[in-house]
Amino acid sequence: MPEFDFDLFIIGAGSGGVRASRVAASHGARVAIAEDHRVGGTCVIRGCVPKKLLVYAAQFSDDLHDATSFGWDISASTFDWATLRDNVANEVTRLEGLYGQTLANNKVTLFAERASIAEPHIVRLASGKEVTAGTILIATGGWPHVPDFAGREHALTSNEMFHLPELPRRILIAGGGYIANEFSGVFCALGSDVTVINRGDRILRGYDDQIAQRLLQISTEKGIDFLFHTEIQSIEKLADASLRVHLTSGDPIDVDSVLVAAGRVPNTTGLGLAEAGVKLDAHGAVIVDDQWQTSVDSIFAVGDVTDRVQLTPVAIREGHAFADNRFGGKNIRVDYSNIPSAVFSNPPIGAVGLTEAEAREQGLDVQIYTSDFRAMKNAFVGNSERALYKMIVDGATDKVVGLHMIGPESPEILQAAAIAVKAGLTKADFDATIALHPSMAEELVLMK
Ligand code: NDP
Repeated sequence: MPEFDFDLFIIGAGSGGVRASRVAASHGARVAIAEDHRVGGTCVIRGCVPKKLLVYAAQFSDDLHDATSFGWDISASTFDWATLRDNVANEVTRLEGLYGQTLANNKVTLFAERASIAEPHIVRLASGKEVTAGTILIATGGWPHVPDFAGREHALTSNEMFHLPELPRRILIAGGGYIANEFSGVFCALGSDVTVINRGDRILRGYDDQIAQRLLQISTEKGIDFLFHTEIQSIEKLADASLRVHLTSGDPIDVDSVLVAAGRVPNTTGLGLAEAGVKLDAHGAVIVDDQWQTSVDSIFAVGDVTDRVQLTPVAIREGHAFADNRFGGKNIRVDYSNIPSAVFSNPPIGAVGLTEAEAREQGLDVQIYTSDFRAMKNAFVGNSERALYKMIVDGATDKVVGLHMIGPESPEILQAAAIAVKAGLTKADFDATIALHPSMAEELVLMK
């Protein structure tokens, strides 16, 4: 008889948890996973995937407008939110099924209920059943943070945005990060009046200043209103069901929906972690070492619940490496340097490596190369929107230490260019590559 019911019990069937389950099972481990919502987690169910589909929907707005310059007559184009919403929901359900299939194919036992830790080797399920495991993995992700203000129950988070009964005619979005800029781009393109309020004086902290500034300029030209140094004081529901948002500065704004996108907090409440001896940081994140082991030997954690890099591919890489190391006898480390990232704003942003400010802080001999251009298609249709590519080079070594792009298809282009930056290639290597013409990506090898 084995000592435990399972070799590995995972709490949370999101990106990190599902990957860890599959890899551990492939090494012969007996694996169980608990999920109290839907298999797939934030990315698949209420994050990256449905968001990207909304971004695709929004792009048609510009494309349909531009089509006439290319000779197409699209006289009767209308948009129906309910069709998009329901099709997105169906796609999410299809992917949820595929994730569930992955678990089944790998003989992972799924408990579709909430789980918490009773003891270092015991998981307690909502049904009251207790299950023992040699190793427990916390992969519970994060949850939107909504600051405390009167009427916060009237505010939506990204969780609810995919289920809106109708497209809001007017929407106020609080926050200046990923979610605020992605949803403001989507709703503006779909026809809503969009106001973004931000507590600070800039959007996309962490991204290169010039790139963030370019997005702000383009977004403003598209008609999005930005208010800085402004927070929500309270939300009042009016008789006609619209919402009056009182702000810390300026006049109140009446809207149909309020989205709060003020960051995400680790999902650690009610998991019995502190009681089991698992140390959390001041923000409630699980503290782990470079093998994702917590302060309790049998308990590990990967992904957003550790609040290090809140990106799906990082959680997947961590879950994979954890399972390989713990059950496959490997010793894999995850290299957190030069992680590419994207903001699916309109236009989108792609970035890898150091920003100009970070490179200067590190005391590098900073050399900046840029390409500020109008994409051929934009020029053709009379759209003044300009793309900006920016390369940060360390003059001492000629190495490209940062690459930042805003413009059509930037994330697609950046992913390939990130390989060069990760590999430590130099500006001379970029310049030695002959341009692929005509493309936007060719600007990468033509930067002055
Ligand atoms: P972000 O961390 O990107 O941005 C949070 C924003 O809210 C910032 O502008 C921040 O201001 C502001 N803020 C933070 N706390 C408060 C507060 N108490 N009151 C008012 N404003 C506040 O978070 P998001 O919610 O946009 O996204 C959550 C996470 O999800 C991201 O960090 C990212 O990791 C992930 N994500 C990734 C995506 C992608 O890869 N494309 C897409 C969507 C989400 P300040 O700058 O002053 O701190």
